[in-house]
Amino acid sequence: MPLDYKPSGICDFHVHIGEKINGYDLRDDFSDLERIAIVNGIAGIGAFVTEEPGLSLTDKFRKMQEKARLNFKGKVHWHLTPIQAEIDELFPLLQEGWDLKFYTTYRESGLYSSYEQIEHWMENLSDIKTRILVHCEDDRIIAQASAEHPFRTPYDHTLRRPELAEIVAVEKVLNLAIKHTYPVHIVHISSPKAAIMVKEAKSEYPFITCETAPHYLIYNENRLSGINAHRWLCTPPFRSEKSRRLLVELLQDGYFDIIASDHCPFKIEDKDRFKDNLPLVPCGIPGLETLYSSMYNNFVEPEIISQAYLDEMTIYKPKTLMSCF
Ligand SMILES: [Zn+2]
Repeated sequence: MPLDYKPSGICDFHVHIGEKINGYDLRDDFSDLERIAIVNGIAGIGAFVTEEPGLSLTDKFRKMQEKARLNFKGKVHWHLTPIQAEIDELFPLLQEGWDLKFYTTYRESGLYSSYEQIEHWMENLSDIKTRILVHCEDDRIIAQASAEHPFRTPYDHTLRRPELAEIVAVEKVLNLAIKHTYPVHIVHISSPKAAIMVKEAKSEYPFITCETAPHYLIYNENRLSGINAHRWLCTPPFRSEKSRRLLVELLQDGYFDIIASDHCPFKIEDKDRFKDNLPLVPCGIPGLETLYSSMYNNFVEPEIISQAYLDEMTIYKPKTLMSCF
């Protein structure tokens, strides 16, 4: 039976909302959030604020925070991505208990941080140890793989952004976290090997945490073939069936701290605009509305995981990571 009731209190730690990404306004703004939250039992989200040219990160954050306050009755925990901003400017915000978020890829859109830059933040924040979220895909490996595999079909996305890129970046970021005894959260793990490495590190260094997303547990790379497959482009891409199955086993064995959606919805017309020029298709898919129900229908209903465990991963544990609760 599909899920026939509305759970309440769901906390989605990874939600892109009310921002422009790669020149496109996301489909959802904070004015949409209250409705989505009521229908789907969402109590809180972790939202991203990415510095933009011409606006200081602090000013953008305050504007988004006010919008959220006016529109959404639930709680919002914030993840901040500085591009130019220096630590002194951000210090007052970081003292409020928000996170930083860095990307080891996306050089073309200006989001890229080198491992050295991430280490520099760790060194400078050694007193307050602001949690750092990291999107782990090694940019050098992505550049090589992308050069070898032109983007002709949506499926090529899987070849251009291989699991190895995630594995290498995760290893490097874990080493930095351990070296500096620094709290790091690895977002949207899609590769079983990366999940195993995080688990090993975590057993000795409990300040390391990680998440995976429902779409890596439910879909495999075959979703990127066939009609309108470009609408399913997200980063990291869906993996092989073998990896998907392994990831589900790791979920059963408690390898992840939380499940979060990486909700990053674009309007269909924006997804479709460059379907014949795939490098320009904005990468991201929605997931906030279906975070709980998709996990329930695919894994609780067939008795792969218990409902209590799903509640822990989508309600109780995320709350412990969010300073707004
Ligand atoms: Zn994301």
